[in-house]
Amino acid sequence: MADPDPAGPPPPVNSRSPLWLGGVLFLVTLAASAWFVDQMVQFGERVEHHHGLGLASTAAALLNPDEVAALRGHPDDSGTATHAAVRAKLRAVLEANPEFRFVYLMRPVTGRLNEFVFLADAEDPGSADYSAPGDLYSGPSDDLRTVAESGRAVFSGVVIDEWGSWVSALAPVHDAEGRLVAVLGVDMALEAWLDTQARYRSFGLTIAGLVLALVALFLVVLQLQRQAAQRMARLGHRLATQLSELEAAQEGLRMADIVVRNTSEAIMVLDPQMRIASVNSAFERLTGRRAGDVIGQLPPTLTQDPALLARIKSAIDAGDHWEGEVWGFHPDGTRYPVGALAEVVRDDAGAITHFVVVLQDVSAQKELEERLREMSATDGLTHIANRRAFDEALVREWERALRSGGPLSVIMADIDFFKRYNDQYGHVAGDACLQQVAAALKAGVRQGGDLVARYGGEEFAVVLPGADEDAARAVAEALRQRVQALALPHDGNPATGVVTISLGVATCAPVRGREPTALVEAADRQLYRAKEGGRNRVEAAG
Ligand code: GH3
Ligand code: MG
Ligand code: MG
Repeated sequence: MADPDPAGPPPPVNSRSPLWLGGVLFLVTLAASAWFVDQMVQFGERVEHHHGLGLASTAAALLNPDEVAALRGHPDDSGTATHAAVRAKLRAVLEANPEFRFVYLMRPVTGRLNEFVFLADAEDPGSADYSAPGDLYSGPSDDLRTVAESGRAVFSGVVIDEWGSWVSALAPVHDAEGRLVAVLGVDMALEAWLDTQARYRSFGLTIAGLVLALVALFLVVLQLQRQAAQRMARLGHRLATQLSELEAAQEGLRMADIVVRNTSEAIMVLDPQMRIASVNSAFERLTGRRAGDVIGQLPPTLTQDPALLARIKSAIDAGDHWEGEVWGFHPDGTRYPVGALAEVVRDDAGAITHFVVVLQDVSAQKELEERLREMSATDGLTHIANRRAFDEALVREWERALRSGGPLSVIMADIDFFKRYNDQYGHVAGDACLQQVAAALKAGVRQGGDLVARYGGEEFAVVLPGADEDAARAVAEALRQRVQALALPHDGNPATGVVTISLGVATCAPVRGREPTALVEAADRQLYRAKEGGRNRVEAAG
C-alpha cells in the first residue's frame, strides 16, 4: 500500500454517489414491492376463486340430481318431501360454511337463458330474503347463463342485486345423463371476501414493508460504513501527517543532540530554578566534573558568586539573554576565566522552562590579552615600562592622589654625554648600556608601587606615588648612585669616566584643574638644571 502523502490534501470524500445509488435501489425496491403487493392480491383472488368454486362444486356434487330434477320450479313444490330434502341439503351446506350467506338452486326458464327460476333456497322461509320456488331471478344473469351453457362452475366476482353485494360461486347440477338440472348458487358476503383479500394485501404489504425496511437498513448501514471509512481515512491521514511531523522533529532532535554532544563548547541546560538538568561532554572536559555529579546542583560558579545570580536574572528579565565572563572553579578550587552565554527557553505560555548556557574556557584568550597588554606597556629594548605606561600610571596616580590628598613626585633622568658614548662604543653598546641603566633604575625603586619607564631615547621617568619632595630627592639620589656604581666605562664623561645620569625631581599635591603633565615639565626643568649644573647630580624643585 502506498503511503499517503502527509503534505497533500486529505483523501477525497465522495459521499453523493452511494446516496444516489441508494435512492435508486430504494425506488426499485418500492416499485417491486408495489408489484409484489398487487401480485399477492391477485393471487389471493385466484385462491379464493378456486376455494369458492371448489366449495360450490362439492356442494353441487352432494345434491341428488334426481331429486333436483324432480323440482318443478313452482310454488307448489313448497311442502313436498323432495323440496324439503333438497332444501335440507342446501341448509347443511350453508351451515357447514360460515362464510356462506345464501345457498340456492335455480334453473333457466325453458327456452330463455337470461331468466332463471328459483327451485330451492336454504334461507329460512320466514326471512325477507327467502326466495320461494317459482320466484324469478331477474338480477345479473350473465354468469348464470355461462354456467347453464358451458356446464362449468363459475365464480361471479362482485354481484350487486336486490339482496345486497356479494361474491358468488355458481356450480351446475347434472343428472345421470349429464343434462343440466339446476345451477347451485353460493353467495358469500362481500365484506368477508374483501376481508380475505385485505389479508392477502396486508400480507403482501407486510412482506414488502419488511423488504423495504431491510433495504433501507442496508442503505443506512452502508452509509454509516462509508462515513466510518471516511472518518478512518481522515484519521489515518492525520496520523500520517503527525507521524511525519514527529519524524522530522525527531530528526531535528537527533541533529541537535549530535551538535550538543560533539561541539567543543561546554553546554549546560538549567531548570527554572537554575539547577543543572543536563550537560554535554565538553562541559565535563572544561569543568573536570562528571555529569552525574552536577545534575540537580546549582552551577559551581553561581554557588561561589551569589551576586552573579541576581545580575543574570535581571539581564534575563530585560531580554532573555545574558552574556558575560565568570570564574569557573575546578574541583580542586583553582579558578579559570569562562565566557558564558545564557539564553532563556520559554513555553507557549511564556513561562521559563530552561536556560541554555554555553561556556567557553577563555584562559588562553585572557593570557594572550594580558601578554598584549603587557607588550603594549613595555619598552622593547629595556623591558621596563614604556612612555605610554608611564603616562597612564601618571594619570592613575594623579587621580588617586586627588582622592587621597597625598603628594605625588616625578623624577626625570637622562644619561650624560650619551651621544659621545654611542659615537665611541657604537650603537649596539649604547643599547646594552641603556638596558643596564634601565635595570639599575628599576631595581632602585619601591617594587609594586613606584614605576620606572623609558621616557624616550636615553631618558627615563619615575612615578613615585605618595613621595614628598625629600623622599623623592632621596630616591633620585639613590638612583644616581646606583648608575654610577654600575661603573660602565665612558671615556667621553670627563668628570667620572663612567656612565652617569642627571636627575630632575618635581613634587606636588595634585589639585583639580591642574594637569599631571605640568609635574613632568617641572621635573624636566630640574633635569635641565642638573645638566647645566655639571651633570651626575640631582636637582629638585624647591
Ligand atoms: P647630555 O649630557 O646633554 O644629555 O648629552 P647627550 O649626548 O646625552 O645629549 P643628547 O640628548 O643630545 O644625545 C642623546 C643621544 O642618545 C642621541 C642618540 O645617539 C642617543 N640615543 C638616543 N636613543 C638611543 C638608543 O635607543 N640607542 C642608542 N644606542 N643610542 C640612543
Ligand atoms: Mg637626552
Ligand atoms: Mg643625555
